[in-house]
Amino acid sequence: MDQTVKSRIEIIQGDITKQSPDAIVNAANCSLLGGGGVDGAIHRAAGPELLEECRTLGGCKTGQAKITKGYKLPAKFVIHTPGPVWHGGKQNEEALLNSCYVSCLTLASENGCKTVDFPSISTGVYHFPLDKAAKIAISAIAGYMSRHPEIERVRMVCFDARTKEYYENALENLK
Ligand code: ADP
Repeated sequence: MDQTVKSRIEIIQGDITKQSPDAIVNAANCSLLGGGGVDGAIHRAAGPELLEECRTLGGCKTGQAKITKGYKLPAKFVIHTPGPVWHGGKQNEEALLNSCYVSCLTLASENGCKTVDFPSISTGVYHFPLDKAAKIAISAIAGYMSRHPEIERVRMVCFDARTKEYYENALENLK
């Protein structure tokens, strides 16, 4: 992989609701009406107007994405994507996770976003194996960025040190 693409990807540990890129991504569920984990944290930090806008969207399919404003968040937009639930790997989970990252970045480009922060989609209550998820995420992000110079910087905002290590390794080993 082109070193200049690698240098546009950063892995940090932190709380995604405190970050101020153009867009943060929400690991949502298909209802888009809020849930636990990072979804709950984003809705709490954004305030009730986020849920009001989400109610107008009619849900979202796994692997696809929808965009809203960020309301009280420091980020301008929230891009909501339902990741796949891990069922053992034979239900198209890997392709669907790849599609989450590509769909979110496509919406970011379409809305003029230059900087995007992602949480580790599907590796919480959806139980996607972290090693596989990190490789898929980094390869999807790098592939998209190599074709889309308008996306200047993408960060993986990892909530814990173990998650951060997996994404760092995936970025180091990117071919
Ligand atoms: P999923 O249902 O897609 O598995 P979860 O919210 O359960 O989503 O978990 C996805 C990841 O988000 C996990 O690594 C979890 O630790 C992390 N996470 C939870 N809260 C936050 C937060 N405030 N900022 C960043 N990541 C978070």
